[in-house]
Amino acid sequence: MFLKGKTALITGSTSGIGAAYAAALAAEGANVIINGFGDAAAIAEQCAALEASSGARTIHNGADLTNGEQVTAMAEACAAEFGGIDILINNAGIQHVCPVDEFPVDKWRQMQAIMVDAPFLLIRSCLPYMKAKGWGRIISTASAHASVASPNKSAYIAAKHGVLGLTRGVAMEVAEKGITVNVISPGYVWTPLVENQIPDTMRTRGLTREQVLNDVLLAAIPQRKFVMPDQVAAMAVFLCTEGASAITGANLAVDGGWTTQ
Ligand code: NAD
Repeated sequence: MFLKGKTALITGSTSGIGAAYAAALAAEGANVIINGFGDAAAIAEQCAALEASSGARTIHNGADLTNGEQVTAMAEACAAEFGGIDILINNAGIQHVCPVDEFPVDKWRQMQAIMVDAPFLLIRSCLPYMKAKGWGRIISTASAHASVASPNKSAYIAAKHGVLGLTRGVAMEVAEKGITVNVISPGYVWTPLVENQIPDTMRTRGLTREQVLNDVLLAAIPQRKFVMPDQVAAMAVFLCTEGASAITGANLAVDGGWTTQ
């Protein structure tokens, strides 16, 4: 329970990797602010389960990350309620698979808003609280697509390179303040985000479901299996330890060897 007394704001934590981050940090005693969409009863159940596991507080804030005012209001409300935010995890993300010359402009803007603009706004809001305490952890979920490319994912690749650049810049600004800033870059993790892109990939590349799974997704991964959400969350827990306090500005791959090839 080494995070007892600390508060973590985790975007996109009603599902997939974000839910795993929330569970892992709560298990170490952190108060957790869940953010994301979903069924209200399921979210209430998730919060209750986290509180039961940790004894710490868990609340949900449903800010839509495409709305800058809601993003900033979420940070301010959470900091006021918990006396600051010690750990910020920018995790929410969406995927859209489409050739760039047909890519809907609105979808492009939505993806940059969630995966680049919201991390910028949240970092901007949370940093003063971290600086005041002389301790902070800022972690963003980037992707193997912050280092490598695939066809028909130009908006996602641009956003993930963007959040990595943001991370490196901020890490330099706060390097002497006890605050570390890093990205975790998973490979393919078996979550709704991956499952939902299978039909589009089948359509745009004329493949069967089996071909998408084995010849496209897992073909890129030397371990030939999907990463599990709790394996990504384990890296976030490590980054919160004092042992990880010299790691900053880093792009930490949890990708089954994908970006090593
Ligand atoms: P997911 O679809 O399971 O969860 C996405 C979360 O983001 C949900 O909680 C959803 O409600 C939330 N969200 C989406 N739009 C939002 C908005 N406008 N405002 C607030 N919340 C919003 O996805 P996941 O696979 O767990 O992905 C989490 C992160 O990991 C994303 O940034 C994704 O790009 C990244 N990632 C995923 C994989 C993978 O293979 N699954 C690989 C590399 C990186």
